[in-house]
Amino acid sequence: MLLKNLIKENPAGLIARAYAFAERAHRGQKRMSGEPYFNHPIAVAEILAGWRMDDATIAAGLLHDTVEDTSASIEELKNAFGEETAFLVDGVTKLGRVKYRGPAVAAGSAEVAASATKAGKAMAGTEGKIESMRKLILALSQDLRVVFVKLADRLHNMETLAALPPAKQRRIALETDEIYAPLAYRLGMHNLSGELQDLAFPFLYPKEYRWILESTKAQYEKRIAYLEKLKPEVEALLEKHGLKPLTTDFRAKRYGSLYKKMLRYGMDIGKIYDLVAMRLIVQTIPECYAVLGVIHEAWPPLPGRIKDYIAMPKPNGYRSLHTTVIGPDEKIVEFQIRTAEMHEENEYGVAAHWLYKQKQGTGNREQGKNLAGQKLAKELAWVQQLKHWQEHVGNEAAIADPEEFMRAMKIDFFKDRIFAITPHGDVIDLPAGSTPVDFAYHVHSEVGDAATGAKVNGALVPLDHVLQSGDMVEILTQKGKKPSEAWLQFVKSGIARDRIRISMRQKRQLANRKPAANRCELKIAVEDRVGLIKDLSATIARNHLNIVAFHSDNPKDSRYPFDKIEIQCAEKEKIEKLILKLKAVKGVKEISYRLI
Ligand code: MN
Repeated sequence: MLLKNLIKENPAGLIARAYAFAERAHRGQKRMSGEPYFNHPIAVAEILAGWRMDDATIAAGLLHDTVEDTSASIEELKNAFGEETAFLVDGVTKLGRVKYRGPAVAAGSAEVAASATKAGKAMAGTEGKIESMRKLILALSQDLRVVFVKLADRLHNMETLAALPPAKQRRIALETDEIYAPLAYRLGMHNLSGELQDLAFPFLYPKEYRWILESTKAQYEKRIAYLEKLKPEVEALLEKHGLKPLTTDFRAKRYGSLYKKMLRYGMDIGKIYDLVAMRLIVQTIPECYAVLGVIHEAWPPLPGRIKDYIAMPKPNGYRSLHTTVIGPDEKIVEFQIRTAEMHEENEYGVAAHWLYKQKQGTGNREQGKNLAGQKLAKELAWVQQLKHWQEHVGNEAAIADPEEFMRAMKIDFFKDRIFAITPHGDVIDLPAGSTPVDFAYHVHSEVGDAATGAKVNGALVPLDHVLQSGDMVEILTQKGKKPSEAWLQFVKSGIARDRIRISMRQKRQLANRKPAANRCELKIAVEDRVGLIKDLSATIARNHLNIVAFHSDNPKDSRYPFDKIEIQCAEKEKIEKLILKLKAVKGVKEISYRLI
């Protein structure tokens, strides 16, 4: 109900106007479930308000499907709500056109895939393809706020996925599990990531889901009952040491991650200690360690199960203390201890940082919890993460400085790369400025060599057309066609350049091999005699040359048993020397020669 409050607070504001516009645009439309379509953008905006996004982002949440699904245009949104909101909606619309169908090779590309294996030149591995897809989404977004809207959209779609036909359910669940949940994780939105995976799980593994539901239900209930009993005991213990948690609650393990963990533990639920964890939220970091000490004093910790993610945060910025102890009645209990600030960060990830920066900048809406200043003074783990990605793709601009946070929100760390898509949904990662020829060579060298033309988003383009992120590229090929040297003028990628050069070199070698003369034909007039052939042969042998054959133009004329001698030699000097010697042989009248 945050959305209602925001509208009430500012009835003529951006959010209120976006609400009215979207309601009108979607009027009469229904979702698959039969409910009014407008319920969906409301839910998305509500999620974004819950993440405490800025007004433009919440407005974009309300408007996110208007361009794709109604008669509204980006121009119209620009006029009504300004550049910023229209830009965010445009980004979400573009993302909506990218569809991930999993790493399985589609039927049409089987041939290319097979020859790629044959050539031993592996195409990007499955993990590489998934990673490229995540990068494509970030690159297309251009602003992390677009990703937030897309994630909120995805969260609500997953919550209502049951209404869709099974094939669509599977595709969307797979995309969520392999692309969006990991993306949320990278952005530090730990909770959202787990939620998305959990929502996808029953659609991807229905049998396993039913099995785990049945086999863990009793265990869950027992664990909860146990922790209910333990809770006052823990609180009393902490109070004795002058510690008072802000909240104490239980965190049930998600089915999705539980299943993955059980696979590792031989499907033995008895070995999963953190089925339900007790979560203690305190005010300060010293209090976190103090609580840990009190717990360890009361109950012995299990070796190897103490995790200090405060001193060493996870790469995505997650911070907390974890420990597993042998509690009362010899039962194993996991504790998670963290500050309220860490908790918020773990829930919202980048979105939380976004919030701090925004508060610091404009001071609008809720009172900042004095987090902003200190937060931004530190180098953030997730910024490190983005930096790593950026280095990975060879971009040079640094975003390590938290002061450049806002610039980091604008996703320009992929500005030197573009991500284009094959008709089968595979993402091809290319340097900026790349052309269909670069694309073709990245699909496979044979596709590059045989390229004759290209379609981009369904329209024919010349081979030197400059591709944009998100372009769907189809390469037209002709069997036996060879690359053109002119392509070197416009290709951008090393792979394409190398392949074209290799092909050029092969072409030249083929041209050279051909008729380089290596033999010579002596035309010779003789007066035959006994021993003439023997004398001629001996003379040629003394000159270290080989006879290939004696030929005769007039085989029936006995005066001329032969009139040509073919020998293996193409050096004029040697031949002329030989001719002088042959002229000295008795019976030889005339000799001339030609190279053949
Ligand atoms: Mn939507």
